[in-house]
Amino acid sequence: MQPIHAKNYIDGQWQEAGQVFESLNPANRRETVGTAPLSQAADADQAVASAKHAFESWRELSWVKRAEYIDAFAQLIRRDIEEIAALVTRECGKPLNEGRADAVEALHMAQYVAGLGRMPNGYTVSSEISAKDAFILRKPKGVIACITPWNFPSAIPTWVILPSILAGNTVVFKPAEQTPIVAHKLMELFHEAGLPAGVVNLVHGTGEDVGDPLVKHKDVAGILFTGSRAVGKYIQQVAAGDAYKFVATEMGGKNGTIVLEDADLDIAVNACVLGAFKTSGQRCVSTSRIIVDRKLEPEFTRRYVENVKRIKVGNGMQDDIFMGPLIEEGGIEKWKLHNAKAREEGAEVLVDGQVLTEGEHACGNFVSPFVYRFDGYKRNTFCLREEAFSPHVAIIPVSGMEEAVDVYNDTDYGLSMAVITEDYRKWRWVRDHADYGLGYVNLPSIGAEVHLPFGGVKASGNGHPGAEGILESVTHRVAFTVNHA
Ligand code: NAD
Repeated sequence: MQPIHAKNYIDGQWQEAGQVFESLNPANRRETVGTAPLSQAADADQAVASAKHAFESWRELSWVKRAEYIDAFAQLIRRDIEEIAALVTRECGKPLNEGRADAVEALHMAQYVAGLGRMPNGYTVSSEISAKDAFILRKPKGVIACITPWNFPSAIPTWVILPSILAGNTVVFKPAEQTPIVAHKLMELFHEAGLPAGVVNLVHGTGEDVGDPLVKHKDVAGILFTGSRAVGKYIQQVAAGDAYKFVATEMGGKNGTIVLEDADLDIAVNACVLGAFKTSGQRCVSTSRIIVDRKLEPEFTRRYVENVKRIKVGNGMQDDIFMGPLIEEGGIEKWKLHNAKAREEGAEVLVDGQVLTEGEHACGNFVSPFVYRFDGYKRNTFCLREEAFSPHVAIIPVSGMEEAVDVYNDTDYGLSMAVITEDYRKWRWVRDHADYGLGYVNLPSIGAEVHLPFGGVKASGNGHPGAEGILESVTHRVAFTVNHA
């Protein structure tokens, strides 16, 4: 396929920015999916000015009218769903069924947020004085910077952009530099949906050149960031200096699946294969610790290892591929580091992951799963505490539910937790004592639904997750009192 030349989209106009950078297919680095502008701070400034100007008229529209634009966008996503799915696969390497799921999630979010436009966005409350009427209203904050990662390149931008604009804010969107072409496609659809100029602006480029100036910009009222802990922490610190800026950060995880003594082993093995290796472990919610009751750990491990060894790794455009490549060559080094640390810290390696470089794998960033086991839990280990964001998973035998939750909670993160059990009293106890934002019973630790909150606790996030949570973040709740006396 011919490379696609993405552009910035500022004030309703497509713009170049001097130099460009390439987006390569991680399954075949000889294929350039497209190019995009290597923008600089001046481009970010221009986009903020455009968003600031558009805010004045966009905020005047009713919520229902703004929702109509979002509904038009939803219809265009539905029309182009297969094209978006294929772009997601070519640009970020997920198998096509996952690329499709990404695009469908974007569609669902657009449909859901369009529906929210007809929901109450304020309410009347009693005043202490009978001659007064009191209202609680939501007012938009202004220009919102939406800074997103590459791993859900169509879904995550819609999670953050759509609630922002529904509430009357305007947006500067800075997508991940790994997936500019999917971002460009979304912007083409906003354009076709007739969104007024300046309501959503797109600026491509690196975090340092574009993200950083946006975070520091005096006219940016708030930042919706999804990405790594290190960058999220930096953004929180920088924005705190401005005092008025809100920052919602959705960050990483060191997620766990707890397999209790009474677990159905078929469910447990399946949940842990899907949870650990979908998207090659590159999901914020990927399981990287399997915490299993000792009583069934040997049988669980035997069956798990058998299943993991059958995982097929390759170009996700082929039908039978379960695991695509890592997004970047640099990701291979990070994966190797985590594997080396596991060995150094005393793990028994059960499935020794390999870098795949022969035949169909020759030009991609392919690795196979790495599975290890710790007999006797060790606190303060790098490999059991730090996010690997790759196909790297530990099996940790424990004795009973309470030790399982203690081990699960022994990380700075608190994003996604799954528990496999048939016992209502057990999952209820785990539900109430584990630290997580997303909890699952007899399911993998992965899977989002657009009408549910999606986010974490502790170092995984400080935001108000999910569409309704984002609506809270991007609006001021104001009290408005009227005297009739
Ligand atoms: P990343 O933090 O490297 O990049 C995310 C975004 O931040 C990119 O657009 C990047 O250009 C930008 N950025 C980088 N430096 C910046 C700076 N100094 N100022 C402003 N912006 C900057 O993350 P990534 O590698 O794209 O994504 C992987 C991470 O995202 C993982 O840690 C994963 O767990 C996390 N993630 C979290 C969620 C969630 O909802 N909690 C969802 C998906 C991914």
